[in-house]
Parts: sequence; structure tokens; C-alpha cells
Amino acid sequence: MKKHTLVILLGLAGLAPLAAHAADKGLVAISMPTKSSARWIADGSNMVKSLQAKGYKTDLQYAEDDIPNQLAQIENMITKGPKVLVIAAIDGTTLSDALSKAASKGIKVIAYDRLIKGSKNVDYYATFDNFQVGVMQAGYIEKALHLKEGKGPYNIELFGGSPDDNNAFFFYNGAMSVLKPYIDKGKLVVRSKQLGMDKVSTLRWDGAVAQARMDNLLSANYSNAKVDAVLSPYDGLSIGILSSLKGVGYGTPKLPMPVVTGQDAELPSVKSILAHEQSQTVFKDTRELAKVTSDMIDAMLANKPVPVNDTKTYNNGVKVVPSYLLKPISVDISNWKQVLVDTGYYSKGMF
Ligand code: BGC
Repeated sequence: MKKHTLVILLGLAGLAPLAAHAADKGLVAISMPTKSSARWIADGSNMVKSLQAKGYKTDLQYAEDDIPNQLAQIENMITKGPKVLVIAAIDGTTLSDALSKAASKGIKVIAYDRLIKGSKNVDYYATFDNFQVGVMQAGYIEKALHLKEGKGPYNIELFGGSPDDNNAFFFYNGAMSVLKPYIDKGKLVVRSKQLGMDKVSTLRWDGAVAQARMDNLLSANYSNAKVDAVLSPYDGLSIGILSSLKGVGYGTPKLPMPVVTGQDAELPSVKSILAHEQSQTVFKDTRELAKVTSDMIDAMLANKPVPVNDTKTYNNGVKVVPSYLLKPISVDISNWKQVLVDTGYYSKGMF
């Protein structure tokens, strides 16, 4: 039987012949840090959708924020012979050996959202403008407290992200580029005196750790003063910080909530913004990040120019990794619907 006759017969029988499927472009393995935060679940599923639409097979694994677990998963992925490894690292410094194994097999590596440090075997980096995220969080505090207009002094406490995540330093430095001049002038006062990533970081981005630290900050420094703003770099931390504040009576007409920032526009935080608790978050559209990453993969494998827009900022200690930086968007009660619902990221029924 001729091939086209077979195709027609299969078609009539309702069986799609293989040739009708998108070309099989090989396997892409995707290593994500954790399912405990909704953003990474969205990242994983958007990556799978976007790669499968382009004709790739995918192997998606989550490491539940356990470094040895992520390493074992990546080593296992390498044995399956993927064309590309896409990695959002838990600890950006622990993957060098695995990546040199990958390189020796010709497997390309893309650092996804978080930079992989200390290895020359990182081909590209797809992320958001992480410094700008911090500028947006601090800019929100600056505006809400009318600092530019000379108001103050106000009390502020600072939180940082996980010290093994390179992004955490970019968020903190971005935020401090706005806040530090006000702290220096005494218009913002950090009563705890805890400044600098060595003092304010939150291991593994853990909301419970942030809540416990906020409890301590409040009891040690605010028995006869009120906190006016809290710089929080991530929604999961903001929710912990807000619980701590509610626990000592904030969120009432007598003691209004301080300005509390966040990041990722996770559902509980958007709901908290609508309830006038959390003030702001930074939306990073994971659909766009997945698209840029899969475009990078397609271009890389076809030996075409890979989309990058920054070749200076992200030095991983061994080389500057060519990067694509997407634009984050600051979200609060005034624009949440337009940014999150009208674009289809969330549906109306969720609120
Ligand atoms: C990401 C943030 C996220 C944080 C905690 C960072 O690396 O860039 O979007 O809030 O990890 O998951």
C-alpha cells in the first residue's frame, strides 16, 4: 500500500498518522524548585505547553526546595539525553559538576528566572529585570508615604529573599537604591537597625520564617511605636508578615496596616490586596518567560541568533551569561483587574 493511501485510511479510521503530528524536535528537561509557590507551578505548565506546541517532548520535575533532590533529578534528566536543560535553581551555586557532565554530552543549559552561578556551562539566562522589581517595591513605598514630598519620618522594616538565590540580591539592591537616601536623611527609620542582606534575608523564601522574624521585630522594637512600611520581596513572605501584624492588632481603624509590598501576584496576595491588607505586588508574567525560553531553545538548536537583550548584567562568577530580561509590572488595587484578569492570567470567577 502506498504511503498516502495508508494516511488516508488511518485518517478515515479516526487515527491520526504520525506524520500529521508536529515534528519531534527532541526532549527538553525542565527542573523547577518547588510546588509550594503557585508561580513555579505556572512556570512549569507554561513551559510544557509552549515547548510541546513547538514540537518538543518535555520532562518536568519539581524538587520541593531540597538541594540534593534537585541535583539528583538533574543527574537523572541528563541520562535521558535531552537536547536542553532548563533549570530554575534552588541554590544557584551547587550545580557545577552536573552541568559539566551535561556539557560533555552536548546538552545546552538555560538558567530559568534564577542565575546559575560558578559554572561556564550556562548558555543563556531568561528572567525578568530583577533590579527593577526592587525599584518597583520601594517606589511604591516612596509614593504611598509621600517621601518625595518630604513627609516623614516613618518606620520601616526590611525583608530579603533567600541568600542562595542571586535574584534576592538584585531585589534588595534595587529596593535600596530608592530607600537608602531616605534612610540616610532620617525620613525612613529602621528601628531594628537590621539592614543588609546578611541581616534581612529569608532562607528558602519561607513565609513561616518571615512571620517569626516579624514577630520578633515587633516585640523588640514596636511596643510603643508603629511600623509604617514593610519591604517584602515575595508574596509568600508578605502573607507571613501580614499574619504577624494582624496578631498584634494591625489592620484596624486605630492601627492601620503598614504599606506591605510583594512579588509574583500570587492569588492569596491579590485577594489580600482586595481586602486592603497587602498593598502591592509585582507581576511577572510566567507565560512570557516560558515563551522567551522556548524561543531561545528553538533558536539555539537551529543555530539561529538567540533572542537576548542584556549581555552585561549577569556575571555568574565565571562568565557573563547572555540574558533576556522581561519587564515586571507593579500591581495594586488600582490596576489588578486590568493587568491580571483582562489579560487572562486569572479568571474573574477566582475573586
Ligand atoms: C523569583 C521570584 C520569587 C522568588 C521566590 C525568585 O527567584 O524571581 O519571582 O518570588 O524566587 O519563589
